[in-house]
Amino acid sequence: MPESLPFNHRTAFEQEEAQVARVSNWLSVMGMLFLTGIGSKAWFSAHFTHAWVLWSFAALLGANMAYFAATGNRSAQKSGMLVIVSALFAYLIVTGGENNTGPLWLYVFPPLLFYLSSLRVGTAVLILCATIAAIVFAFPGLPMVTAEYHTDFKIRFFSTLFFESIFCYVLEASRLKARNELVKQADSLERAARTDELTGISNRRDMQSRLQTEFSRYQRTGHHFSIALIDLDLFKNINDSAGHDAGDEVLKQFTDLAQSVIRQSDVIARWGGEEFLILLPDTSLLQALALAERLRSEVSSHNFEFRDTPLPVTISAGVCSIAKSGTLDELLRQADAHLYNAKETGRNRIAPRVRTYDHPLPEPIET
Ligand code: GH3
Ligand code: MG
Ligand code: MG
Repeated sequence: MPESLPFNHRTAFEQEEAQVARVSNWLSVMGMLFLTGIGSKAWFSAHFTHAWVLWSFAALLGANMAYFAATGNRSAQKSGMLVIVSALFAYLIVTGGENNTGPLWLYVFPPLLFYLSSLRVGTAVLILCATIAAIVFAFPGLPMVTAEYHTDFKIRFFSTLFFESIFCYVLEASRLKARNELVKQADSLERAARTDELTGISNRRDMQSRLQTEFSRYQRTGHHFSIALIDLDLFKNINDSAGHDAGDEVLKQFTDLAQSVIRQSDVIARWGGEEFLILLPDTSLLQALALAERLRSEVSSHNFEFRDTPLPVTISAGVCSIAKSGTLDELLRQADAHLYNAKETGRNRIAPRVRTYDHPLPEPIET
């Protein structure tokens, strides 16, 4: 069976992660500016400890950014930011910040939390923060707790934060659902764009990109590859005598047969109409000729049939190795010329002709 078609899932998630990292960097810069500014204001209001604490948080955000710049570790960057911000908000609740207005900053927390982490982690951290806030509100006499809040403030603060958190959760959950749906749709569109509808194998477009990839690998590593361009013989006769549906069925049956003959690393594509192209990585011309001959022989002895009517099917193929051609265009041109020769010299044959086809096929070389 040929290898499966590529997915673009990874690219989509990778792009999103990169975007989160960029936004985190900007948020860190903004956070540092705010903390430095508010810290300075506290300093001039003679709240020296508060000023130093805020400046320390600014320094921590800067250190987190520097660590990310040095290592590129995105999950460490996100975790670092979450820990710093959680600690800052806990400090603001416990001390009340300036004139007991510190807890207001907590409204920034739910959206930031869900943006940086998953729904599950975000919910867990929110519950933890709410618990800390509840303890601070309930026991103002605890050590380190210097703020005292009015009962009305506590009730409103909790209920508004609760509703904000629910809204953020719902918005993030629906964003994720829509995002996953889009990625799934993009996947199936990409698959469809690379797949032949009738046979389910690669189409010409996909094969062209695979050929290009294989050719680049050949240029980089010197690994040879070959191709076999296959055309069903007198296929028009099958359509004319047994009908178009019979022709379609033959194309499908031929595809199944060819897939059972080629190796795991080989790729077969419908090149157009009743023409197929097989890409054989790490395969010499003689080995490719041997495979094409095996396929030709299997096809000519296979009982193709449509609605219990036997259909005579044979193939001709032109085979070429990159070692003999040098460029992709030349490779395809030569394979086509050999296919033309095979047709001219009587069909149901492989070209170029060699005396023996009994060269064993090698296992593909892992690179
Ligand atoms: P040759 O041995 O020289 O290749 O003869 P041929 O009859 O196979 O070649 P020709 O190019 O004259 O005809 C190819 C036929 O393949 C014509 C076209 O209708 C048929 N064909 C192409 N695509 C499909 C398809 O998807 N389904 C069916 N049923 N027929 C197809
Ligand atoms: Mg043809
Ligand atoms: Mg044909």
